[in-house]
Amino acid sequence: MNLGQRLLAKSLSAKRSRRGAIEEALAKGQCIFPNCECELDRRGLCKTHANEFYGELRRLPDDEARAEREMDLIVAGLVLPAYGQRTQRRASSFDQAMKAG
Ligand SMILES: [Zn+2]
Repeated sequence: MNLGQRLLAKSLSAKRSRRGAIEEALAKGQCIFPNCECELDRRGLCKTHANEFYGELRRLPDDEARAEREMDLIVAGLVLPAYGQRTQRRASSFDQAMKAG
């Protein structure tokens, strides 16, 4: 199987056993990393865990290794897919003002 096929097979979603914990953490605005209760920043993670995640990716040798590592962590339910970012906890001030207006 080539990389594309492997990524497709993994389907980019967190394994079932982590989904409840992820939803719970996001609902509280907290990092999805197990036992971390810090405030969400990016990709479902707090600043510390997001920095660690991006730092780890940067140290990998090439894009293929980075993509594969990222997919593994997404499937393990330890980081959210980029398109699945649900880190915005407040509605935009502009939207609120339009509704209020
Ligand atoms: Zn964290």
